[in-house]
Amino acid sequence: MVKILENFSLKEKTTFAVESKARFFAEVRNESDMLSVLDSQAFQQSARYILGGGSNTLFADDFDGIVINPVNRGIKIIESNKKFILLEVEAGISWHNFVEIAIKNKFYGLENLALIPGNVGGAVAQNIGAYGSELKNFVFEVRGVDVASMEFKNLSAEECSFGYRNSIFKNELKNKFIITSAKFKLYRKPNVNLSYPELKKEVKKFPFIQPDPKYVFETVCRLRKSKLPDITQFPNAGSFFKNPVVTNDILERVKSKYPDVPFFPVENDLFKIPAGWLIEKAGWKGKRIGNVGTYEKHSLVIVNFGVKSGREIVDFARSIRNDVFEKFGIWLENEVEIVFNSDEKF
Ligand SMILES: Cc1cc2nc3c(=O)[nH]c(=O)nc-3n(C[C@H](O)[C@H](O)[C@H](O)COP(=O)(O)OP(=O)(O)OC[C@H]3O[C@@H](n4cnc5c(N)ncnc54)[C@H](O)[C@@H]3O)c2cc1C
Repeated sequence: MVKILENFSLKEKTTFAVESKARFFAEVRNESDMLSVLDSQAFQQSARYILGGGSNTLFADDFDGIVINPVNRGIKIIESNKKFILLEVEAGISWHNFVEIAIKNKFYGLENLALIPGNVGGAVAQNIGAYGSELKNFVFEVRGVDVASMEFKNLSAEECSFGYRNSIFKNELKNKFIITSAKFKLYRKPNVNLSYPELKKEVKKFPFIQPDPKYVFETVCRLRKSKLPDITQFPNAGSFFKNPVVTNDILERVKSKYPDVPFFPVENDLFKIPAGWLIEKAGWKGKRIGNVGTYEKHSLVIVNFGVKSGREIVDFARSIRNDVFEKFGIWLENEVEIVFNSDEKF
């Protein structure tokens, strides 16, 4: 029987490790647990938030609603042949554990996405990406429950409308559909993706090594450990902002003042500018206000150096965003999901 806890501390449940209490909190282990939670008074009468590993979530305040945390952790082979394997992976498994299991069993494709914190459900909702790869390239189908009808449904990859750190689960279906598992199609044939220049450079450092997926996996883990703060020492939620996509006019305006601005063409005459570069140029790299600051090696990462309330992190992030807007005329969008207790927007 599933337990719905009251006044539950979320401090250990998000990587920002701020003090915040949920009025109700429920861990969900299977489909029948899920139905009892959805049927409960606590769920029917409260605001809702679906929490995975909490590595992309910031609670600004206490949350006067119910937090649902899927913790189902099974993996099942659905289909297997000489070319590929189709695995159904439950939402509560840690993403990196799944990547490790895949690589150990010689199921290839996910190597570039190694060591990203969080759970499989969160990874799908976010369409995680790193080192030239994105999760959407490997998703076949997503299963979950429609909270209004309490029916379990399978959505095809196309129906998930995956985009840059985005999906239907963060838009039309936000807090309306709870992912319980996803099917991933992985490959038997080793094939390495070295499209990301930094990864390619690191892999090619040792020309006598013929890179295989396991080697790429190890290299990605090494690169990430050298660049990103350890969440146990420096609580954070990865990139706080998304890389802005701008028109040619805006890019030219920035270029006229900063000819060294890095940019990458995306579709339809639009260009992506690294948010970290804008933040650094605006003077925020390694800057701290009280116990919140940007990470010294990576200005896109905001670190909690000891604040208790998520509010202080929200205020710090707003200062960065306003300053970048003043200096470049570019409005940064948050990648981290900020949960307010009211209609407040970031
Ligand atoms: C050090 C560090 C490095 C990072 N590096 C990267 C990176 O390289 N690339 C990258 O893309 N991200 C990165 N991230 C961000 C984060 O790890 C990912 O976004 C991750 O996938 C979030 O998963 P989670 O389970 O922790 O999600 P949560 O924070 O719990 O939730 C994130 C979103 O998903 C929704 N959600 C979660 N579970 C479900 C579910 N079962 N059903 C429906 N919706 C759900 C939530 O409601 C919320 O909208 C990094 C974070 C940290 C701390």
